[in-house]
Amino acid sequence: MTIGVLKEPTSEARVSVLPEAVIALIKTGHRVLVEQGAGEAAFASDDEYQKAGAELVTREEIWQADCLLGIQHPENMPIGQLNEKILIGIYQPLFQKILMEQWASAGITSFSLDMLPRTTRAQSMDVLSSQANIAGYKSVLLAAATYPRYFPLFMTAAGSIAPARVLVLGAGVAGLQAIATARRLGAVVEVFDTRPAVKEEVKSLGAKFIEVEGAADPGQAGGYAVEQTDEFKRRQQQKIAESIAKADIVITTAQIPGKAAPVLVLDSMLDAMREGSVIVDLAAATGGNTTKTENNKTIRYKGLTIIGNSNLAATLPSDASKLYGKNIRQFLALITSDAGSIKLNWEDDLVKGACITHGKVLVHERVKTL
Ligand code: NAD
Repeated sequence: MTIGVLKEPTSEARVSVLPEAVIALIKTGHRVLVEQGAGEAAFASDDEYQKAGAELVTREEIWQADCLLGIQHPENMPIGQLNEKILIGIYQPLFQKILMEQWASAGITSFSLDMLPRTTRAQSMDVLSSQANIAGYKSVLLAAATYPRYFPLFMTAAGSIAPARVLVLGAGVAGLQAIATARRLGAVVEVFDTRPAVKEEVKSLGAKFIEVEGAADPGQAGGYAVEQTDEFKRRQQQKIAESIAKADIVITTAQIPGKAAPVLVLDSMLDAMREGSVIVDLAAATGGNTTKTENNKTIRYKGLTIIGNSNLAATLPSDASKLYGKNIRQFLALITSDAGSIKLNWEDDLVKGACITHGKVLVHERVKTL
């Protein structure tokens, strides 16, 4: 099969496949086309791709490939020319139903890796985990670099410094990595999550898990959080207000798949924080966890710095691309035969879970019923 590696939009520094992954793809029998400049922002030159065995092509030529690999939605896609082509990336179809219907009509077979079920078998292809892990790590480094005080406890002849107090809202993949990173930097960490299952993991990282009674049972939500009752929200707000008033850094990561992010930090809570404190909101793209978050912006509010960024993985483009490339290769292996051609097994929950459009139809049940 001919595989095309797309150059991402200018706002994205990652690339779906690095030269090292090109070598592996060619070994498995594929021909690889790479759009000129695709790896530039991730520090992979055209020269390295060529040495790895890829053919460099223009934007116009890349669409000849049978299967197009990317991360974000491809810009200026000649949709009319893509009948029977395969697209693999992170398309957030739960927020993009109209576009997905257009792709279906154009005859595109699309796989959105953010829709893979979060099962053990899917772990090696789980782009949400590989990228959220980076985002969680970077959120704390960004906060530490912005915060006008130390993170660790220091006792020096010139005086003592108390450790920074970090509050993490949402202990999924990003939140757990944020906790671990903040602890490594010597901070005291408190954590909220609606899923009681994470309590032990939080404690094992040396942080304090603050329990709020009566969270809605995630039950059938595949391990994800679900929307909470008004009564729970009121109780949770009360407890968050107590913690946030003492916090210097807040990392927010709370999300509910396919829905707006829950607003957990209200104006009154921001007003109670001390000047110089920093909030990094990783849920910014779906509305943010604070009342003041603006996506892709850093704002100042009453002496606080609020950073809204849901794409922090892109700020470590080399490692993020390396891990993404591994994820995507694992997924390709799942949908290709030993001879290297496409072979879709519709009985496989991973194929079914990630496929959004196929055979001119929007096939994903959840996207269809939106
Ligand atoms: P996510 O990005 O959807 O959400 C981040 C966190 O915010 C979650 O822990 C969620 O419970 C929490 N949250 C949501 N609403 C909240 C609220 N109102 N207050 C406080 N916290 C709130 O989560 P994720 O990191 O993508 O992980 C989702 C699930 O997938 C988890 O159960 C995780 O263990 C599971 N997972 C499984 C695998 C696997 O087995 N392949 C891999 C990674 C993650």
